[in-house]
Amino acid sequence: MKILVIEDTVTSATVVCGWLTGMGLTALHAANGEAGLEMFGSERPDLILLDIIMPGMDGFEVARHIRAQEKDNWTPIIFLTARADEKDLQRAIEAGGDDYIIKPVSEIVLKAKINAVYRMAQMRDALCQVKSKLEKANRELQRLSSIDGLTGIANRRCFDEVLLREWRRCSRSSSPLSLLMLDVDLFKLFNDHYGHQMGDECLKIVAHTLVETTQRPNDMVTRYGGEEFATILPETDAGGALAVAEAMRAGIEGLRIDHAWSSVMQAVTISVGVACVIPPRDGEAGIPALIKAADDALYRAKEGGRNQVKMSQGVIRVAGPGMANIGVLPPRL
Ligand code: GH3
Ligand code: MG
Ligand code: MG
Ligand code: MG
Repeated sequence: MKILVIEDTVTSATVVCGWLTGMGLTALHAANGEAGLEMFGSERPDLILLDIIMPGMDGFEVARHIRAQEKDNWTPIIFLTARADEKDLQRAIEAGGDDYIIKPVSEIVLKAKINAVYRMAQMRDALCQVKSKLEKANRELQRLSSIDGLTGIANRRCFDEVLLREWRRCSRSSSPLSLLMLDVDLFKLFNDHYGHQMGDECLKIVAHTLVETTQRPNDMVTRYGGEEFATILPETDAGGALAVAEAMRAGIEGLRIDHAWSSVMQAVTISVGVACVIPPRDGEAGIPALIKAADDALYRAKEGGRNQVKMSQGVIRVAGPGMANIGVLPPRL
């Protein structure tokens, strides 16, 4: 253990350093505040014994400088001074000191105080390490809790969070917010024919193809559940959303994943429902209506023969206070 003694009186410093060495500790001596700060920076001591009255920078200032320099660390500081005024003790603790010893001090008391303060510093270090590990684990948990285990893309929970966030953002900026609901066509038959493992592999490929189709950083493809995906497209109008939906549909068709039992074609395909709104400024009550609009459009895409994109039409009515009307932008079909 390395102890820095910042003390201008040579006799006093010599006695204290002698005791420290006798205790098996490494003693470093700085004869004034400035030299003390420099040694603190270069030697990184484990503990500091600090005098108050010194020529130039006094002990209070030295302590404040040390505390200002340390971000995550806390090097214990024990003031060792002839000043017995309670006000000085108060200032010393306020400046960042951990303890205050009035000279003269005996070797036994000094040793006990050093041990007590150092023990607390070690407990603090241990706590800091646990805290940093916990923070890391929490970040990882946060990441895992928003990811779908099978496909590795964002999950339903993430969908709910992002849709709410983007709804609010688009509401503030009066920008259009688009939502695509995508569903793999006749996927039950795919599973029945090729087995669930192949089904899972197929879902992974579909998920990643959808993700790769999006261009903007805020676009978000999520696994909504089962063989259904939802894509959130902030600041995207109906025309843009239709273009993305069509690119996704064509992208999946283009994969040519064998689906011998499909009545649509001999490959895996998806149907897509598109809805677009400019979220009103009076709250989030319209979110379920937006999801329903995209779902209804998806249903029409299925009814229309699958492997196609349909746009939600008309105005989505939201029941509740204020009866917010969400205008769906006119489709450009
Ligand atoms: P449609 O074109 O009308 O959507 O027909 P479909 O067969 O895709 O629809 P349905 O809802 O009847 O069946 C969905 C199937 O998706 C049921 C289930 O076998 C399959 N599925 C859902 N989740 C998973 C999954 O995680 N892994 C696998 N392998 N299959 C899944
Ligand atoms: Mg002095
Ligand atoms: Mg489905
Ligand atoms: Mg399906």
